[in-house]
Amino acid sequence: MEYERIQYDVPADGVARITLARPEAANAQDYLMLSELNSAFDVAAGDDNIRVIILAAEGRHFSSGHDLASPNPDMGEFPTVGTQCHFDAPGAEGYMAREAEMYLGLCWRWRNLAKPTIAQVQGKVIAGGLMLVWPMDLIVAADDATFSDPVVAFNVNGIEYFAHPFEAGTRLAKEMLFTGRPIGADELLARGMVNRVVPREELEKATLDLASHIAMRPMFGLTLAKQSVNQAVDSMGMYSALQAAFSLHHVGHSHNMEVHGRRIDPSGIDVIRSEA
Ligand code: ZN
Repeated sequence: MEYERIQYDVPADGVARITLARPEAANAQDYLMLSELNSAFDVAAGDDNIRVIILAAEGRHFSSGHDLASPNPDMGEFPTVGTQCHFDAPGAEGYMAREAEMYLGLCWRWRNLAKPTIAQVQGKVIAGGLMLVWPMDLIVAADDATFSDPVVAFNVNGIEYFAHPFEAGTRLAKEMLFTGRPIGADELLARGMVNRVVPREELEKATLDLASHIAMRPMFGLTLAKQSVNQAVDSMGMYSALQAAFSLHHVGHSHNMEVHGRRIDPSGIDVIRSEA
């Protein structure tokens, strides 16, 4: 399989590694990257020799989020995996379908992969960047890692995979959203938002060691353990909460389109830049 935006390798027995490979753009995610990620996850999931999947990133930062420079890609170029349709319809109809497929739909799909997944995270994880990290089962962070979702400045509720209350707890979730403040590695660890923090130069090895340790266990036991934890969170209403927040997200997009002629409030970029 040839990829443009990612790389795929098998760095150890039983371990597949998918690496975001657009460091010149801080691994900003366009639809091509998301589509390639999805097909790479499928390759790893379908390989009987793979038991654990690492999601890593080249360069200084894990991901700066969605690539706002390519807002209206042609969905016909990408295989769809969900049940959305009418991607080219005008108004909210087409845009909501696209985000339901390419953002929330893919994230939820990856969250439910039958194999353990580990995010290997360095540098900044901004907005849509969290949508790659949060669906993974475990997170190994470098000591320079920060998580932030500043998009309330764009006059929406937050990113499309609205897992903040589950990932950060309600208090910190609200603070993250209201202020846009990046959460640093020490605080991420203290809040249980990552599994471990390691020096930047040890990140790759620490993640690989953890993956290899997990890969010694039988596949079905790992799958059952993963699904049991996921089902517990689902019983608490995670999926319904994500859907509800996604609906409000699109109220925000539609409001901005009416008031500003764009799906986000363009003044948000100045607010975010002034705080950087
Ligand atoms: Zn959106």
